[in-house]
Amino acid sequence: MGDTRLRFLAEDVRIRVVTADTTQTTATAQTKHQASPTTTAALGRTITSAALLGSTLKDSNILTVFIDGDGPAGRLVATCDAEGNLRGYVQNPRAHLPPNPEGKLDVASVVGRGQVVVSYDLGLGEPYSGSAPLVNGEIGADIAYYLTTSEQIPSAVGVGVLVSGENEVEASGGFMVQALPTEQEEDEMTARRSSVLQDIAQRTSQIDSISRMIARGATPEALAKRLTEGLAIRQIAADELRFHCRCDRHRSAQVLRSIKKDEIEDIVNDEGYVEVNCEFCRSSYRFNAAEVEKILSGEYM
Ligand SMILES: [Zn+2]
Repeated sequence: MGDTRLRFLAEDVRIRVVTADTTQTTATAQTKHQASPTTTAALGRTITSAALLGSTLKDSNILTVFIDGDGPAGRLVATCDAEGNLRGYVQNPRAHLPPNPEGKLDVASVVGRGQVVVSYDLGLGEPYSGSAPLVNGEIGADIAYYLTTSEQIPSAVGVGVLVSGENEVEASGGFMVQALPTEQEEDEMTARRSSVLQDIAQRTSQIDSISRMIARGATPEALAKRLTEGLAIRQIAADELRFHCRCDRHRSAQVLRSIKKDEIEDIVNDEGYVEVNCEFCRSSYRFNAAEVEKILSGEYM
């Protein structure tokens, strides 16, 4: 079984629930980036956030989450597309810190203080983006604060990654609960909604570790039921998720075109080739002198 993301709706109170198991995606990201336990947790949480936020993407839309903290991990970036393709990287994958006082991976300290930026590329030219300050660097609360303030959607978000003593990803996943806008002010529903949201907020605060629940076998469906106990929810979508990078040789050639011509020519003269490295998946694409000449003259397809 691969990674999955489920979407649910509680129609009578207009609440949306998204849950995801991202264990294999995070494990792949860890392998590709040779990430330490702490940065694996930070990267997995960022990728999971992209998966949750990206649950409503359509067509060729792409969402990117940037966690720009001043901690030793540096910048964290993850993208999600409408097909459930996820990818991500962390600036300093080897950064590692001792566990925090609760004995958990110290994601907050490895991320530090800074901001979260979420960018939506809807294929209409300039991407639309919003930002919010990081609340605590644990990423889940940071995304929830971003959604509530920047997108004005009251949300609760939990993301977690469990890494074993041997630095293996045992579980990764998360949830997002959102109060959807209501069209008209219905007093009865508003009252019920706020009490439901309070219940959910209480339950989310009781979930000590979402990754431990997943490690013990909780499915995305079980997570959603646990969060919304007693509420009538209807599953509206099930999506497969995977680590998959969009980079290829053609796109890498485009990257070369955006760099100053004489800079590339200097590299080719020194090395005999030029290499484009994808920061998301660590693939590298090498172009020899003849290929570079074609790229720069616009002949290379
Ligand atoms: Zn790539």
